[in-house]
Amino acid sequence: MLLYLHIPYCDSKCHYCSFNSYVDRFDTRPAYMEALRCQLETELERFGAVTESIETVFIGGGTPSTVAPELYTPLFETFAPYLALEAEITSEANPNSATPLWLEGMHSLGVNRISFGVQSFDADKLRSLGRAHNPAQALRAVENAARTGFSQISLDLIYNCRGDDRTLLTRDIEQALALPITHLSAYELTLEAGTPFAEDPSVRLDDDSQARFVAKRIVEGGFGQYEISNFGTPCRHNLGYWRLENYMGVGAGAVGFLEDRRFYPPRSIDTYLADPLACSIESLSPAERKTERLFLGLRSRLGIAEELLTPSELERAALLTREGKLRQEADRFYNPDFFLADEIALYLLD
Ligand code: SF4
Repeated sequence: MLLYLHIPYCDSKCHYCSFNSYVDRFDTRPAYMEALRCQLETELERFGAVTESIETVFIGGGTPSTVAPELYTPLFETFAPYLALEAEITSEANPNSATPLWLEGMHSLGVNRISFGVQSFDADKLRSLGRAHNPAQALRAVENAARTGFSQISLDLIYNCRGDDRTLLTRDIEQALALPITHLSAYELTLEAGTPFAEDPSVRLDDDSQARFVAKRIVEGGFGQYEISNFGTPCRHNLGYWRLENYMGVGAGAVGFLEDRRFYPPRSIDTYLADPLACSIESLSPAERKTERLFLGLRSRLGIAEELLTPSELERAALLTREGKLRQEADRFYNPDFFLADEIALYLLD
């Protein structure tokens, strides 16, 4: 079982971002962290944490490094008794707010994996994305994390932004790989409704070759690709999502998943604070779960189980295997080219 905790605060709003985060509600932090603890207690019960331990925790946002480690302490005390041995505990962080003090505080609480939202090491690109940090802060933050003792460090890069060319992307990738990191995510810029970027579509390049170029350079740099956008030592939490394991989703705008239901706490901080236990529930049909398994399995190295497929889908999978577009090992099919995942999934499905 997995646990996701959502921190809905950011220092500033990046121009492309539609995540649930606020730049003007820092006053609510103590009450919010207490509300998280309250919801967490209910979720531990709902998900049967007494009988199934928590394998991974992911603190995401928003920007978790906008909240002081002391405010996290009650949450850690609440879930600690249910943690598996060797649990992976990740926190996202931004380079400008992940100070050495913050990193030390989170490390002492038990966080053992840090994921930095870096996006680029190019000052102009960072400015045009509306990021709150500069390249020097990004370098320092990663080095500070390594010095603090985090053995697992990840960072995110973004591509297909106006101004991106192979020279800039190569520089970003080489700089990232020169740092003491174990994992790298590379995402394509998407235009999300309601963001400043959505009003000016020219900020996004429509260059299909960039994704393959970026992936190739990262792989050449020694980080294996285990999902379309992810490279290096796999994030166990993400692998759990893609395997459709149960996950508690705690916080405003988080999402939980238990067998065949999704749980949605309120998105607004105020509504959440008023009742952290309120949530809407969505039931997933077996067909919906199968489709998810198929897409997620083909986009990652997890692959798909033969038993998931109907006889006619199996025939098509066998045809793709003969053509070299899928690889069969024992009772699973694996996709050697994650960038073709959606096409393959749509072709396979009845
Ligand atoms: S720091 Fe992350 S969550 Fe916050 S606005 Fe920027 S992209 Fe969105």
